[in-house]
Amino acid sequence: MSVADLFEKIPGQDRLGRELQAHLGNLKNSYFFLGPQDAGVMEAAKAFAKSIMCSEGGCGTCRSCMAIDLDMHPDVGLYERSGAFLLVDEAREIVDLAYKSTSGSKYRIIIVPELELVGKAAPTLLKSVEEPPQSTIFLLLASMEVPELRTLISRSVVVRFDPLSEEQIFTHLRKLGYPDADSTIAVRLSAGRWSRAIALAGDQELRESCLLWEQLPGLLQREMSVVIDLVNRLLGVVALVEDRRRKEQKQEISRVVEMAKATGDLRETLVKKLEEKHHRELRRIRTAELRSGLLLLERFYRDQIVASDLAADKIQFGLKAIGRIEDAQLALNRNSNEFLLLVALLSRLADKVS
Ligand SMILES: [Zn+2]
Repeated sequence: MSVADLFEKIPGQDRLGRELQAHLGNLKNSYFFLGPQDAGVMEAAKAFAKSIMCSEGGCGTCRSCMAIDLDMHPDVGLYERSGAFLLVDEAREIVDLAYKSTSGSKYRIIIVPELELVGKAAPTLLKSVEEPPQSTIFLLLASMEVPELRTLISRSVVVRFDPLSEEQIFTHLRKLGYPDADSTIAVRLSAGRWSRAIALAGDQELRESCLLWEQLPGLLQREMSVVIDLVNRLLGVVALVEDRRRKEQKQEISRVVEMAKATGDLRETLVKKLEEKHHRELRRIRTAELRSGLLLLERFYRDQIVASDLAADKIQFGLKAIGRIEDAQLALNRNSNEFLLLVALLSRLADKVS
């Protein structure tokens, strides 16, 4: 298995796989993966980490590869910030990590995602990226080039990702063998997230549930009982997605237990660490799910404006609806009560956005 093989799993990015493959014989200390998260930036960074650490070049199934998949490799650190921006103290922790000796691996790899939110911490980080210990490799990720990142990027090998088109995701699903009819709906509902498109393509119940977001405008009525019923159904869709992820998490726990059995690692420590990660993940899934649902709803009103033959009242209605949905997105970021937020939004949309 090679990096190029691992990259084949990520739609549209085989060229980058070949580029990184060429680096394996002559590794640099810092790589910058630039591009939208949905284009598989994190998957690519992990694939690269696997091929650096695995004795088989990234087999995907050995202990090292599995541990990287689950963010549990002792010498591959995924550093996630705690707040809205990376703090200077957090950057210092990353620098300290860069100088720690490894637990037996030839390299220490440090993955830092979402560095577009590096804020004032960039100079602190820069020092260790410029002169790291020979064995440390930084895999830095950002969805866009913000000015604070300029020097960091110039000191790194830049791996640039283009956003994926719906067509690329569709072609990828076809390659994986999903029926075209299912893929078409999956791509549309995934809002550009390819891993999500794969989940949808293979899960009819999930697909049918998620369609509710698109059908919503046609189902809306002014009666509060109808609105509340729809909101409950939407929250039911979110619960279904959470449920799917919980099942996968259970499988991950069993894999870790197997891994601990085979290697004599402390099972309790590994499982506890993974459970904490799962818990954080589930919290994020709820918001991500509502956010992508709102995006589908917003797209409905955008399409309606385009199809309105530029009738003034229809355009005005569509723009107001989009404004309300965007307000709801912002409220979601402020941890508002999801039920009340959706009830308020749907009531307004049902009321012809008065
Ligand atoms: Zn491996």
